[in-house]
Amino acid sequence: MKYWNVSVEKALEELDTRVKEGLSVQEARRRLDEHGANAYQQAKPESVASMVLRQFKDVANIILLVAAALSLALAVREGHGYLEPLVIFAIIVLNMTLAVTQERGAERALEALQNLNSPSCLVLRGGARLEIDTADVVCGDVLLLKTGDFVAADARLVEAIGLSVDESSLTGESEPVEKDASVLIEDDVPIGDRLNMVFSGCLVTAGNAKAVICATGMQTEMGKIAGYLNNTQKLQTPLQRRLNRVSRTLSAIAAAAAAALLAGGLRQGEEFWAMVLAAVSLGVAAVPETLQLIVTLTLTQGIKNMAGKRALIRKLPAVETLGSTSVICSDKTGTLTQNCMSVQRAWVSGSAPVAVSEEAVAGPVCELIHKLSLASNATLEPDGEGGERIVGDATESAILRLLLSSGEACGQLEERMPRVGEVPFSSARKMMTSVHALPEGGYLVLTKGAFDRIPFAAVDEATLAERRAMHDAFAGDALRVIALGSRRVEGLPQSGNLEELEGDLTFEGIIGLIDPPRPEAAKAIQTARRAGIRTVMITGDHAATAAAIARQIGLIGDGGTVITGRQLQAMSDEELVDNVRDYSVYARVSPEDKIRIVEAWQERGEVVAMTGDGVNDAPALKAADVGVAMGQAGTEVAKAAADMVLIDDNFATIVEAVREGRNVFSNIKRTIYFLLVCNLSEIVVMLGAQLAGWGMPLTPVMLLLINVLGDGVPGLRLAQDVSDGRIMGRKPIGRQESFFAGGLVRVIAQQTLAFTVVSMLAFWLGAFVWLPGGAGPSLLVGRTMCFLVVAFTSVLHIFTVRSRASVFKRTVRDNLPLVWSAVGIIAVLSVLALVAPLGAIFGLVPLGPASWACVFGLSLVPTLVAEVVKLWDNRSESEHYRRLLLRHRNVGEE
Ligand code: ADP
Ligand code: MG
Repeated sequence: MKYWNVSVEKALEELDTRVKEGLSVQEARRRLDEHGANAYQQAKPESVASMVLRQFKDVANIILLVAAALSLALAVREGHGYLEPLVIFAIIVLNMTLAVTQERGAERALEALQNLNSPSCLVLRGGARLEIDTADVVCGDVLLLKTGDFVAADARLVEAIGLSVDESSLTGESEPVEKDASVLIEDDVPIGDRLNMVFSGCLVTAGNAKAVICATGMQTEMGKIAGYLNNTQKLQTPLQRRLNRVSRTLSAIAAAAAAALLAGGLRQGEEFWAMVLAAVSLGVAAVPETLQLIVTLTLTQGIKNMAGKRALIRKLPAVETLGSTSVICSDKTGTLTQNCMSVQRAWVSGSAPVAVSEEAVAGPVCELIHKLSLASNATLEPDGEGGERIVGDATESAILRLLLSSGEACGQLEERMPRVGEVPFSSARKMMTSVHALPEGGYLVLTKGAFDRIPFAAVDEATLAERRAMHDAFAGDALRVIALGSRRVEGLPQSGNLEELEGDLTFEGIIGLIDPPRPEAAKAIQTARRAGIRTVMITGDHAATAAAIARQIGLIGDGGTVITGRQLQAMSDEELVDNVRDYSVYARVSPEDKIRIVEAWQERGEVVAMTGDGVNDAPALKAADVGVAMGQAGTEVAKAAADMVLIDDNFATIVEAVREGRNVFSNIKRTIYFLLVCNLSEIVVMLGAQLAGWGMPLTPVMLLLINVLGDGVPGLRLAQDVSDGRIMGRKPIGRQESFFAGGLVRVIAQQTLAFTVVSMLAFWLGAFVWLPGGAGPSLLVGRTMCFLVVAFTSVLHIFTVRSRASVFKRTVRDNLPLVWSAVGIIAVLSVLALVAPLGAIFGLVPLGPASWACVFGLSLVPTLVAEVVKLWDNRSESEHYRRLLLRHRNVGEE
């Protein structure tokens, strides 16, 4: 069926639906079941087999396989059984299974979040406007479109007011197409010429419309373009790429060390195969098998935590950029304030301003409210549960609410003076105009908006001064001011351009609306400030209103200055860059100004988060390091351009997301600290013991056991760790800040040294010193003791890396899985060593009580060393904090 060839009536009949009510809810559900979701076919998810294959591309796994192959070769040559190669293979399989299952889990979690992120649209069902998932739209649904929406599916227009649609993604045509519901097209024209249709995935750039859906999912024109829409994200962020470098460096060090060992040993006339085995063991020791995995999990966990705090990540790199954010530019209305407006005061010339309360709207003010509501687009809609609710913009809803509470029935005025045209509100113009046909003939023009933008008729100085004074008084009390101008005309402009009517308007009056700050806003701004993050408020409201709100939330002190859009436009880009630090509040700005603000801060090297909701905000959201869209008030365009969506539109949520972003970075640092100490000390122990001529302290199997079980399993739990409060007491993480910044290299070196000393000592004691109660010194006893000490110290190390504070200060209750997995691993490894037949598989022998005492004693040493170092560091750090805090306090008082 070519719906562009037929009349609206025919289309509706064909689709078996009605314009006024849309489909019934039951019928819509039936059609959804019958025809399926309105979605494009997704690329098939990666199969398990290909995931496993991908594992073999990893250097770490290749080294492990080489180790296994060599061990097999050795076993064949020496004929001493295949146990060792088998165990190595088993551990490799375990490692890969762990990797694949965890990765899949992470991907599933992300998918679930993507679904939360899914776009929605407005349809009529059973006579009510419902916001539904785009995927649930069916043929016959009546779709309501407004500026900033993406079209949910292909649809035949029923009515359209000033509608233009950007169809570039479909036709390549960059100019928006002006649509017309009333034209009837006779022929089979190309997509771009079907003026009475709108197409799935295209963007409404202006106007609004009602359309009936006639094709969904793969039947849409967009769906027919195969393969075009599969842009599934892979979990690969700049941070991960940097980590890959760390991994590769470590592997290179290992390879070099192994080669050195081999060469040195052979020169000393050691047996070839023994040296090969030693070299391979060294390779195994150095590979941080679980690093990549832990980092993937940390990122996923970060995204999950953010979602739990009502911030949805749309683009993965945002997780880490958030941690580096140093400036947050936030809209005022709805983000810092509640977007829950109510009319507080009204004034018409010739009388005193009146405090408006629900019951007492009378006299001339009453007429003002009537006209304002006539000029509003907020409407009363059934809420689907038998009641009614107000739908529309917060400002206009407040006007309608006041009108209703004063006992006026909605719609009566509209019937007497039907609206014949409209110039929609835009944040750039800050006003809107509606034109109404009068019963006695002629038209009434109503323009409502910012007092300083409406072109009122000229009046004498005194009157003007009086109006201005009244406006400033309203605005000074943090009220948003809406002014109304009116005019009667006999006819409408020939050109059809209603903007021509906006001039010479009679001043009707002003109202002041209150929009209280969100209760969390002041505290969040303070938290941000303590964390070295500057908050900047951006609003279209008047400077006085903006300043009053800014004072209430502690953004500026009593003498703080506000810059207006006009001043901003008078400034060159260079000037703005030079002075941008001086401004915390931008008033009367247009969305177009936002991009300059972002770029000025970026020019100064700051990492900028910027909020936005409208179509015109999209460029600024893209330009910002973290574009943040509003989940409730935001247009689909803004959401599509954003890196993150705030479900609750709340400023405090951004600050929470920053905390999570920092936590992700810290967790990765913790992971590196944790794994690097374990792996580096293993390399040094292996090399050292060989060079000392003591023999091989750990076999490849033992090393694998330690790296995969001992480090890996509790290490995975590190991904869920949360940082303590101090994380928001530090400066933002530099964009290129190394993982090793902040003294990490030093503590890694200290701990590696401690690890090495105790492990070597354990090996030496077991191999050469007679300990009471045991079987006497031997290589096997030495290995067993070394194995246990290395494994135990590694597991205990996890508690050291959790915090810069003492292990005793950090409660373990906030990460019980970590504690349990650590305890579990220690238990499992002890059992291995205690049960002789089991231990034999891994080359372990039973130990006497004195040896066990040595093992436990030595294992505690590195943790104790770390404690002493922390004690020392924290003494100087707390001094540093005191100074930092003092400085911040002074900044706040500026
Ligand atoms: P913000 O982004 O802070 O909400 P806007 O650009 O939306 O700022 O609004 C700026 C000014 O435009 C307001 O101070 C008010 O005077 C006027 N205004 C806001 N909403 C409307 C509306 N629905 N109709 C007419 N004027 C409006
Ligand atoms: Mg607004």
